[in-house]
Amino acid sequence: MFINAEFKETFANRTIVLQFDSYLTVTQFIEDAKQRLKTRYGDDVDIIDANIYLNDGRIPEEREPLQPNETIIFDYWYGRFPFMQNLAFYMRRKDMSYPQIDFIKAQRQQQRQQRQYKKDDCPICLEHTSVFNAYSCSHSVCDTCFENCNKVNIRCCSICRAK
Ligand SMILES: [Zn+2]
Ligand SMILES: [Zn+2]
Repeated sequence: MFINAEFKETFANRTIVLQFDSYLTVTQFIEDAKQRLKTRYGDDVDIIDANIYLNDGRIPEEREPLQPNETIIFDYWYGRFPFMQNLAFYMRRKDMSYPQIDFIKAQRQQQRQQRQYKKDDCPICLEHTSVFNAYSCSHSVCDTCFENCNKVNIRCCSICRAK
C-alpha cells in the first residue's frame, strides 16, 4: 500500500508530493524523504508534521521536527487512514533563517518584557507571588498560569472572564 505525502516549504507556496510505501518505519520515511528532497531543497531539512494540532501558541513552522522512530508509518498515522487525503508536512531548511519566525519570537519576547510585575499571590495557582495584570480587569496572574492558559487557548481572565 502506498501513501502520498505532501511537503510544503516553510513560508513558500511550493509543495511537492511524494509517494511512500506505508510499511516504511518513520525513521526510514524521514531518511527517504530527505534523500528525495535533497536536489531541490538542499542537504538538510527538518520535516515537521503539519497535521498535529497543538494549542501551544506557536506557529506550525517553528515546531520541533518529526522524530525518527521504529513504528511503521501505517500504524504511526493510523488515525489518518484510509488515505483519502495526503499526509502533510512542512520542510524547514536548516541552512536558512526565516525572518517570519524570528519576528514572531521577538514579538513574544517583547510582550514578556512589557509585563509589570507586582508582589501578590497568584489567584489561580496560589503558589507564585510575582504576578502581572494580563487582562483588562483588575486581576493579576503569574507567568506560569498565563502561559498555561494560552497553551489551552484560554485568552481571558480565569477569575472573571474579562479579555
Ligand atoms: Zn499562577
Ligand atoms: Zn479578572
